[in-house]
Amino acid sequence: MTRYDPDEPPVDVDPAFRRSFQDRIVRWYRRAGRDLPWRSLTSPYQVAVSEILLQQTQAARVAPVFEEFVARWPSVENLHAATLEEVKALTDPLGYHIRGAWLKELARIVVERHGGELPDSLAALRELPGLGPYAAAAVYVFGLRRRAALLDTNIARVLTRAVGLPADGSVYRDNRRLSDLAEQLVPARRHYDYHQGLMDLGATVCLSRSPRCQRCPLRRVCRAVTGGPPVAFWNEQGVVMAAERTVGYRVGSRAAVNPTPEALTRRNSS
Ligand code: SF4
Repeated sequence: MTRYDPDEPPVDVDPAFRRSFQDRIVRWYRRAGRDLPWRSLTSPYQVAVSEILLQQTQAARVAPVFEEFVARWPSVENLHAATLEEVKALTDPLGYHIRGAWLKELARIVVERHGGELPDSLAALRELPGLGPYAAAAVYVFGLRRRAALLDTNIARVLTRAVGLPADGSVYRDNRRLSDLAEQLVPARRHYDYHQGLMDLGATVCLSRSPRCQRCPLRRVCRAVTGGPPVAFWNEQGVVMAAERTVGYRVGSRAAVNPTPEALTRRNSS
């Protein structure tokens, strides 16, 4: 079993919950997932382009730029042959201007060191320009169709709420409990649809300030809604959020749902 700090309880997901959680997300994604241009991709290169363009930018703004990008440079060799000015002319209007240089450098490294194919290990992907831990894992999962646990802010929010993982601000940074939880929940198969569904849930249903629990495929199993001991959760800003059918109590800068005795004590003494 993974070892944690003494005050960190280990995460141990019930197998029945895990199966239900996975099934609900996959079925919901196949029925109601967003139609985004990068969803039909099979090329790891094009997935890498989409991940770099999506950094710090909304999907709706990225979509037309991405479509033009892959139409002009459909392969990594095409991108390598383009000039930096040509690439920046297309990507700079999205802001975050470093992206053009990252894309050009990524193309150079992939062509010169990897024979024109993106590397097929997570460690090597992480060394490419513009691909941090999340983007590298996304290329691994969505481009190479390999199994790995994806974790970004949206996914962290869904997981912590659904499982009722006692969370604080640090859970959204480098938290081993959360990484372990994410790893335990990834299905052995269907992990592509599972991760796409998780991201759509976080972006459109399990919103930070106003989760739409009545529309959520997890509502019958989500601990933030069904309650149970002990459930406490926060949004990224540490602000109380009110899931439907729950009562939120402000505890300092935190919110406790179905508060534990400790939470009530803190609330009453604050
Ligand atoms: S039921 Fe509500 S809190 Fe739970 S995962 Fe769905 S939207 Fe989020």
